[in-house]
Amino acid sequence: MQLRIPGPTPCPPQSLQAMGRQMINHRGGEFAKILNSTTEKLKQAFQTKGDVFLLTGSGTGGMEAAIVNTLSPGDKVLSVSNGAFGERFADIAEGHGAEVIRLNFEWGKAVDLDAVEKTLKADGDIKAVLATHNETSTGMTNRLKDISAVVKKFDKLLLVDAISSLGCINLPIDDWNCDVVITGSQKGWMVPPGLAMVSVSEKAWQAHAKAKMPRYYWDFSKAKDFLQKGQTPWTPAISIFYALDTTLDLILKEGLDNIFARHARIAQIARNGVKSLGFSLFPEEDYASDTVTAVNAMDKIDVSKLIQVLREEHDVVIAGGQRKLAGKIFRIGHLGSVSEDDIKSVLEALSKALPKAKKS
Ligand SMILES: *Cc1c(COP(=O)(O)O)cnc(C)c1O
Repeated sequence: MQLRIPGPTPCPPQSLQAMGRQMINHRGGEFAKILNSTTEKLKQAFQTKGDVFLLTGSGTGGMEAAIVNTLSPGDKVLSVSNGAFGERFADIAEGHGAEVIRLNFEWGKAVDLDAVEKTLKADGDIKAVLATHNETSTGMTNRLKDISAVVKKFDKLLLVDAISSLGCINLPIDDWNCDVVITGSQKGWMVPPGLAMVSVSEKAWQAHAKAKMPRYYWDFSKAKDFLQKGQTPWTPAISIFYALDTTLDLILKEGLDNIFARHARIAQIARNGVKSLGFSLFPEEDYASDTVTAVNAMDKIDVSKLIQVLREEHDVVIAGGQRKLAGKIFRIGHLGSVSEDDIKSVLEALSKALPKAKKS
């Protein structure tokens, strides 16, 4: 089976094998070794010298952790959004009592940096900016480096959802001055769902010291204290740690630059492939993501039928559109464990399935 949705992604054999191991005491020396080793290797993959925590939960839990650890109820927050996950980040902040200013751009369209700058200039009380690096719902990668440059001109806190890009698309966390960056184990990391991984900068710690949003499970201070003892505050998803310790070795062995180049190559094959089948891309092409390709169904194709035919007749699983894009686009995930041959076979299956999914 070819699982080509933007997460969960396929786990290589080493990852699956590692998970078959017997449980261990999460308060013992053996787990401490694994926690320390995954944390150190993640710091390399994250390109940061700051703190990195592995939190048991899904990516959304990591987003909530970023909010509750750095903000207080009533804080003004600027949400820069052009898709479903950008809106989720804003919803989480609002749900916890932040006053969210929503700078919403059209889904699939680039963020207008001038608008970001104007908003930050007009309202000096804004404390933090929420941004999405790779907007999985629209198959688009935002220019985070440029967004960060504007945010940092005003010295604001920058919280980044990089759940579907970190480890696949270059995001040098320290160089780009990102304060909290979130990813999830089931995206580029070649392990099952179960862990959210977050980086925390010095500026984020300063915000944390004053942040008053209620928190317990996600408290970064607790995570830091326990990490010093080689533990997590709560029982961790031990099996996912086994797997991640293994796939991080694969990742560091392949090398970050090689991984980024592989994702770029494969994404280019995916984009060329769907275009040669007569489709257009949903996002602005210059911003098309290297981890997920979103394709306009263009009233020609019944998306749910296409997904069904691919699954039943070709053993290929792709994703449809989310929310207002349901039925309008389909999405091919190509992140983590993926090769050129994988994506070529997906494209071949797509070309065979298309006639059966044409709208009459
Ligand atoms: C997958 C994803 C999420 C949600 O992660 P969960 O692990 O499903 O909670 C959030 N943001 C982006 C950009 C994603 O791709």
